[in-house]
Amino acid sequence: MSDTARKRILTGDRPTGKLHLGHFIGSHRNRLRFQEQYECFFLIADLHMLTTKPDKESIEHIAEIARLIVLDHLAIGIDPAKVTFYLQSAVHEVYELQLLLSSLVTVERLQQLPTIKDMAAAAGLDQIPYNLLGYPVLQTADILMPRANLVPVGKDNESHVELARQIARRFNNAYADVFPLPDPYVEGGTLIGTDGQAKMSKSLDNAIFLSDDARTVERRVMGMYTDPNRVRADIPGTVEGNPVFIYHDTFNPNKVEVDDLKQRYRTGHVGDVEVKEKLAAALNHFLEPMRERRAHYEAQTGFVDELIYNGTQRAREEARQTLSAVKKAMGLSGAWNRISRAAEKRLKKQESA
Ligand code: ATP
Ligand code: MG
Repeated sequence: MSDTARKRILTGDRPTGKLHLGHFIGSHRNRLRFQEQYECFFLIADLHMLTTKPDKESIEHIAEIARLIVLDHLAIGIDPAKVTFYLQSAVHEVYELQLLLSSLVTVERLQQLPTIKDMAAAAGLDQIPYNLLGYPVLQTADILMPRANLVPVGKDNESHVELARQIARRFNNAYADVFPLPDPYVEGGTLIGTDGQAKMSKSLDNAIFLSDDARTVERRVMGMYTDPNRVRADIPGTVEGNPVFIYHDTFNPNKVEVDDLKQRYRTGHVGDVEVKEKLAAALNHFLEPMRERRAHYEAQTGFVDELIYNGTQRAREEARQTLSAVKKAMGLSGAWNRISRAAEKRLKKQESA
């Protein structure tokens, strides 16, 4: 299929940290499939990071974390020749698009989105900053900029794609048919953290990162939460909801081994240490091909920077085309064209006089 016939995907990550197993299970593994079927735009959403982390230190780390996130993608098997990675803040047309779209949505509509209040609360803000309220409109601009057809998001962000769809429809009705209506692709599956208390999260110190080395994985697994009632290996334990067995089910392809461990765990015939050693081995086996791909790309100094650079140029070209279509549809470019043409004519006359 040629590129023009391919449907487009827009999705991305805020540059707040490297990727962990939870990201992979909940979202990023889907991107391996998407890259074969769609034209994929993967944004590094640094402007979105500013909604909750506008401090200088976070901003200083954008480049470094952007590189790590892109490298994580290459490590999981994303083909750099097939997708476009770009840095959101470098695509200035997106800021313009956000402003032009903002007349198509009301403050009330944005205030009704549950995500905004949740994000403010999670970031410890007692009032909602203007850019946080407007963040779904910026997200709409991200989606409509490459004229994306499909937008993979977590369940909590589904309402934002619905908003983007509504804004796109309003634009098409009010001016001209510029945008395809984007559909959400709701991703799922939450991975619990190594602490067994909350979902895996980089800020909770309960994560295993895709970039962790074998020793770190072993250490993390050995410290994992299991059945707290099982103080000795000969006490029958609970498998259900036990994070070590959730991980075994998710990452250990040796089902015979997993079933044997579960059976012995339930009857008090296996120690936590054996269960964990086998889990660490399975996780390292799972991560090893990622380590090899990571090393391959890391050995090429500047490769990731060039990839983001070229992708951003590509995204900018798309954005210029979209913005120009938008202004034309709105008749907005006409105002400036008329004024500037008349002014230039007059200036030329003066020069030749
Ligand atoms: P933070 O601790 O800063 O909240 P995080 O590790 O939870 O970071 P986010 O940036 O909040 O990561 O997550 C981005 C997206 O990654 C989520 O919307 C979700 O789709 C996916 N994701 C994150 N953690 C998990 C998880 N444990 N299980 C499944 N999906 C996850
Ligand atoms: Mg989170």
